[in-house]
Amino acid sequence: MPVQCSSCSKNRAVLRRPKTGHSLCKECFFIAFEEEVHRTIVAAELFKHGERVGIAASGGKDSTVLAHVMKVLNERYSYGLELMLLSVDEGITGYRDDSLETVKRNQEQYELPLKIVSYEELYGWTMDAIVKQVGLKNNCTFCGVFRRQALDRGAIMLKVDKICTGHNADDIAETVLMNVLRGDIARLRRCTAISTSSEGDGVVPRCKPLKYAYEKEIVLYAYFKKLDYFSTECIYSPNAYRGYARTFLKDLESIRPSSIMDVIHSGENLSVRDGVKMPVQGTCSRCGYISSQALCKACVLLEGLNRGLPKLGIGKHHRLHGKLLSQEPLTEKEERKLKAVEF
Ligand code: SF4
Ligand code: ZN
Repeated sequence: MPVQCSSCSKNRAVLRRPKTGHSLCKECFFIAFEEEVHRTIVAAELFKHGERVGIAASGGKDSTVLAHVMKVLNERYSYGLELMLLSVDEGITGYRDDSLETVKRNQEQYELPLKIVSYEELYGWTMDAIVKQVGLKNNCTFCGVFRRQALDRGAIMLKVDKICTGHNADDIAETVLMNVLRGDIARLRRCTAISTSSEGDGVVPRCKPLKYAYEKEIVLYAYFKKLDYFSTECIYSPNAYRGYARTFLKDLESIRPSSIMDVIHSGENLSVRDGVKMPVQGTCSRCGYISSQALCKACVLLEGLNRGLPKLGIGKHHRLHGKLLSQEPLTEKEERKLKAVEF
């Protein structure tokens, strides 16, 4: 027998909400999903009237749903935001070039301006070229560090006040787990924050309106709304460590559906004892970006690539930063040692 929507009691239910277990019709699910995002935005005061907001858009399901929902809510609740799409082109043939085509279609569908910044123009290296040099083991380290800065640089070009990203509840729970497993206290404290203020010049505040949205619901929303998104995985994935955290969480979720929220809440409620040493933020002496070392991670990674010593930025070689700063060549012994580092 067809199940009735438990919200409107009129239409036939087409899905059971993973988050609440309610059987809903399409329209009631859309409203429930959008209203939850709206409540998240209002409760955390993510935006102010009149702000320019860049939506980090990759063409994937999360950022496509984010762009769609932000546009809907901005109109429905008169947020008064000026929305635009901001994309990063990592230079991955057969992946990003295709997903950027999706973003370009989204730009027309949602009538939002779009800015694309590329690794090639910012750093002189595409991910294709980086992978040729470093192989497939640490490529995501390069990509992650470069992306963070690329988004900031794009945001500054667009003169936006804020960037919002499509991180969903599953992503955040995975990150909490990874930071616990790595013992990364500084990141653990930051990763559950729904918004971050500017940490210094060149760093644009960020926020995550989908922080409490389950990935499963985002997929359902995109599917039933027939949104145009790109679902292929990066050809240089998998980021093995995140993959394990993801599988582990999915297993937990199948036994206890609230696991994702539970992990996020645990992360939010962990506090760091006074006296625990935290990295002190300064600025990179080469590019001016925030950094707790003399050179920021992106500059060290780039220097390594440009010197043909890509391992320079992987692991801890702070000792060598002085030499990098003064452009001094490494000694043969230092080079030999670096080349011998196992990834
Ligand atoms: Fe970049 Fe790795 Fe993500 Fe591919 S999987 S886009 S290489 S971070
Ligand atoms: Zn730098």
